[in-house]
Amino acid sequence: MNTQPTASHFINGAYVEDTNGTPIDVIYPATGEKIATVYAATPDIIEQALTAARAAQAAWGAMTGTERGRILRRAADIMRERNHDLSILETYDTGKPYQETSVADATSGADALEYFGGLAASLTGEHIQLGEDWVYTRREPLGVCVGIGAWNYPTQIACWKGAPALACGNSIIFKPSETTPLSALKVAEILFEAGLPAGLYNVVQGMGEVGAALVTDPRVDKVSLTGSVPTGRKVYAAAADGMKHVTMELGGKSPIIVFEDADIENSVSGAIIGNFYSSGQVCSNGTRVFVHADIKVAFLNRLAERLDNAVIGDPMDPETSFGPMVSKRQLDIALGYIEKGKSEGARLVYGGNAIDGKGFYMQPTVFADVTDDMTIAREEIFGPVMSVLDFTDEDDVMARANDTEFGLAAGVFTRDLSRAHRVAANFQAGTCYINTYNDAPVEAPFGGVKNSGVGRENSKAAIEHYSQLKSVYVRMGDMEAPF
Ligand code: NDP
Repeated sequence: MNTQPTASHFINGAYVEDTNGTPIDVIYPATGEKIATVYAATPDIIEQALTAARAAQAAWGAMTGTERGRILRRAADIMRERNHDLSILETYDTGKPYQETSVADATSGADALEYFGGLAASLTGEHIQLGEDWVYTRREPLGVCVGIGAWNYPTQIACWKGAPALACGNSIIFKPSETTPLSALKVAEILFEAGLPAGLYNVVQGMGEVGAALVTDPRVDKVSLTGSVPTGRKVYAAAADGMKHVTMELGGKSPIIVFEDADIENSVSGAIIGNFYSSGQVCSNGTRVFVHADIKVAFLNRLAERLDNAVIGDPMDPETSFGPMVSKRQLDIALGYIEKGKSEGARLVYGGNAIDGKGFYMQPTVFADVTDDMTIAREEIFGPVMSVLDFTDEDDVMARANDTEFGLAAGVFTRDLSRAHRVAANFQAGTCYINTYNDAPVEAPFGGVKNSGVGRENSKAAIEHYSQLKSVYVRMGDMEAPF
């Protein structure tokens, strides 16, 4: 596959290049080899994108929802038809195994395009009768949206932000992470091919400063970021200065509580999906696994047996179920946390090492006997490092699970129905799971509380974050005034 894109940016319905921008090498994480080069957006490129997005928005916002939705649904169909090629590209971009990308990336992007395409026609205001008078509300687009993505789900993030923005009648400029710049260009291409008018979905490349330039521009009305908490703070503050709408999808250190009555096999599956899918590079991962002391040994033994079945290797091989980290930098961060875990007294029970050879591979890693104060139990690692902590009492484990600055997700495994719902109600987290983990269907709201973010992606809730209501008061009789 030719992984070098036609040009770095997609603006106003066409590929655009400006080689004066800083070159960004795209590295295939499985081999460390360069597979493409793109150039960071120059001020001229940023200007072109903003001008195009501004110019195109009004006519798009004036179209009917049915017309807008039809284009999004057509794009969803094209994405599904090209799932194989898009998945291969995503694997080159991120290193995630094809076994994952073929079912989780372009497919979930297509789901978002289809879902919001379907919703577009039903976006309405309401009628409020006030005696003889009445008010009606109009649901209007915000204008120009900026989406800024992380590197773990480049296609999905490009669609999770683009689909609701476009459904509501906005235009969008998307800046992928500099680590994974390739897939969003394909999303732009497909939308254009599906009939999206030029200028409505633009992609510009670059590092944080390109994102910052977009966020601070007065022509931008809304910013949606998927990234870390420190970046979220900066972007939120910059957006606040211009009183812009925001959605912040940030990091986490989510708990999974496994009670003594839980099905061991299912809870081990939950812990595996919640720690090792995408080599642990998932924001909602349940990296603090609280296991009841009565079943701790059984849980750890079964976990180790199951991890022995992980197929680590060439991500393009459909049998491979565990790929490399996205970058050398991310690999070093995760290995650094493993050293911290060891030095602070956690018991390494599985993995713990980088894997020699080409590429940024490391072993799935499990620490047991982790205590709440250890660095590996407090900070987001964003790598395949699971911490197992002991507990015996429900109230105590609830308090410990919630004792974190984050609040993205949380899971509970138990056969006790009342306890499951009580625990879910008491979790301080935006997305909770009972006897499952890390599902993210487009139909359900997704997002965090506390430092994990603001707003929700997916579902009807996202509509609130990509549109605004205008109230129109209509007086039927004469109007009174004091003088
Ligand atoms: P970063 O926060 O480092 O970067 C996120 C994006 O923001 C990148 O595109 C980055 O550009 C850009 N950026 C950096 N600084 C600025 C700035 N000052 N102004 C505007 N944009 C800026 O996150 P990572 O890419 O390392 O992704 C990992 C993080 O993302 C984790 O914390 C993870 O939890 C979180 N995440 C959250 C998800 C959620 O839905 N809640 C989902 C996936 C990930 P560049 O990197 O190119 O310089």
